[in-house]
Amino acid sequence: MKVLIVGSGGREHAIAWKISQNLKVEKIYAAPGNAYNKVIKNCENINLKTSDDILNFAIKEKIDLTIVGSEELLIDGIVDKFQKNNLVIFGPNKEAAMLEGSKAFAKDFMQKYGVKTAKYQSFTDKEKAIKYLDEMSYPVVIKASGLAAGKGVIIAQNRKEAEDTLDDMMTNKVFASAGDTVVIEEFLDGAEISVLSITDSDVILPFISAKDHKKISEKETGLNTGGMGVIAPNPYYTKTIEEKFIQNILNPTLKGIKEEKMNFAGIIFFGLMVAKGEVYLLEYNMRMGDPETQAVLPLMKSDFLDVISSALNKDLKNIKIDWENKSACCVVMAAGGYPVKYEKGNLINGLEKFDTNKFDTKIFFAGVKEENDKFYTNGGRVLNVVSIEDNLEKAIESAYKNVKEISFKDNYYRKDIGTLYIPVEF
Ligand code: AMP
Repeated sequence: MKVLIVGSGGREHAIAWKISQNLKVEKIYAAPGNAYNKVIKNCENINLKTSDDILNFAIKEKIDLTIVGSEELLIDGIVDKFQKNNLVIFGPNKEAAMLEGSKAFAKDFMQKYGVKTAKYQSFTDKEKAIKYLDEMSYPVVIKASGLAAGKGVIIAQNRKEAEDTLDDMMTNKVFASAGDTVVIEEFLDGAEISVLSITDSDVILPFISAKDHKKISEKETGLNTGGMGVIAPNPYYTKTIEEKFIQNILNPTLKGIKEEKMNFAGIIFFGLMVAKGEVYLLEYNMRMGDPETQAVLPLMKSDFLDVISSALNKDLKNIKIDWENKSACCVVMAAGGYPVKYEKGNLINGLEKFDTNKFDTKIFFAGVKEENDKFYTNGGRVLNVVSIEDNLEKAIESAYKNVKEISFKDNYYRKDIGTLYIPVEF
């Protein structure tokens, strides 16, 4: 089998590593990939970025399966293009991808199908948006509806900040057309949980839960990032929370997918908030999370390619996904200065100490390039150091032990991945 993986981060490395364990896979192409092709057998990078170029490559090379990691191309309709050309691709079609591509669309879908979510309204008219603020208490959440590279959500502490944010998004266009529509939403004070799942539009099978750490600095302070670390499973995801999630979020989501005839095989990522003992859905992402994937996939005992094939064959009702009864901790090593300004091209030392094919230690490459058998930094988030152990404490300890074995100029990582700061009433 020839598999094509679209994307270039640590998430795609984790997907490629997991897929490569299936003996049917003879060749993996990564578009555009990163230096992970040097540590995965029979993996080749192809420097293609647009959906048309990737499609033409897949036709020419007779690719058997394409897996898309990142959201932009999904929202742009890459799945529909592949399907028109009778190529097998795993991911949401353009309509289903709207559940991520438009927060206003996603919230309307949640409301229509009774998915438990924060109170909200959407606006294209700034004056009406300002008027709605009269009904809200503070803090209030203001979201650019379109894709804004993870920066489009502002938590305004008072009326002035809220009006300034509406000005920025709707008049000054700081998020370009992503801010043409805004969602104003009730602020929920609680703890977040990420639940990845796979669907064939008849069934949604949830994966093991995860907790990410989005802020750059310890104690969840400083700027937002793509994610500085993850633990899995998420200690906040108790049996009661899981039951509420299935009843109030997963089941109504599935009903909506069926009634809207979205008909796709792909991933749904549920971004949840536990507040006052209830579970709310903050957002859907229609692809795997980064870095959640890097902590979750190593815990999957089942063959991921077989699971994906079941989804593509509309057969998920007949399978069960097996998980290790263990914990994972993923620490992100970043370039100093990230997420603002940082250097690239610094030599990474210490990688040779790791055999990444060992079960309990994974080093997934994110911003990494290779030259003459040496690895160099090539992005803000550079490496994902993942440890799998019998319990969370041991996984955290082992991940940090491994982080200390690796070095590059100005490397930065959070020292408190896995620490839970928010007390939750269960
Ligand atoms: P979203 O892209 O909608 O998940 O929002 C990004 C982040 O903003 C979430 O991970 C939360 O940390 C925060 N957030 C979004 N919506 C809310 C809300 N209603 N209440 C509190 N925090 C929120």
